[in-house]
Amino acid sequence: MDPLYRIDHHGIARYALRRREGWRLLDGDPFGAHAVGAALDTDRPSLLAPVMPSKIVAVGLNYKDHAAEMNKALPDEPLIFLKPSTAVIGTGAAIVIPSGAGRVDYEAELGVVIGKTARHVAAAHAHEYVLGLTCVNDVTDRDLQRRDVQYTRAKGFDTFAPVGPCVVSGDIDRPLTVESRVNGETRQRSSTRELIFPIRQLVEFVTRVMTLLPGDIISTGTPPGVGPLVAGDQVVVAIEGVGELVNDVVEE
Ligand code: MG
Repeated sequence: MDPLYRIDHHGIARYALRRREGWRLLDGDPFGAHAVGAALDTDRPSLLAPVMPSKIVAVGLNYKDHAAEMNKALPDEPLIFLKPSTAVIGTGAAIVIPSGAGRVDYEAELGVVIGKTARHVAAAHAHEYVLGLTCVNDVTDRDLQRRDVQYTRAKGFDTFAPVGPCVVSGDIDRPLTVESRVNGETRQRSSTRELIFPIRQLVEFVTRVMTLLPGDIISTGTPPGVGPLVAGDQVVVAIEGVGELVNDVVEE
């Protein structure tokens, strides 16, 4: 499938495809029956988050180079946590630093968008349940993450889950470069070759615990180089072959 977007089409959220010859609406449901619809009357549609997940299942420490940087042993199994759907924003929307927040960090991550209801999926079959890949910024209040026993508050604020700009289908085993930039300066740059638990294993592990619904996202963890954001910054998560997720940072 061509890269899948969601756009604000005259006040209504619609799925759209970006094709070589221009933008086309998608009629129907990208997770079910659909067809290529009318051409858009603009070259620059207003982009929304490409999917609205019921949940984001995010993975803690999952890059070998990040573990080495932090002097941490490689985990025996993934550490997973949830980010709420209400934290999701699209490219171009602002990350809002809550009043009274401590250090708020960017975390560039590869997101795996689930295409059909998935439960007890074996790693060998994981690709059958994946619609495609996207960029995620697992924005985190680092001070609250340290203070609380678990991550709900630190990673659950509204706007703390930028997702986008689109969903790109293809081989889930291909190695991809994952990068973040703040104000044009590269801060993180690694490859999904460094994943401790690759996509297939994550799909198996997570669906042993819970049902993943169409549009749900597994966020695969962040490479080395996380750092703080302040109001006025622009942060970009860029993934090779997927696209660039761009968000400005503002204060509440
Ligand atoms: Mg993370």
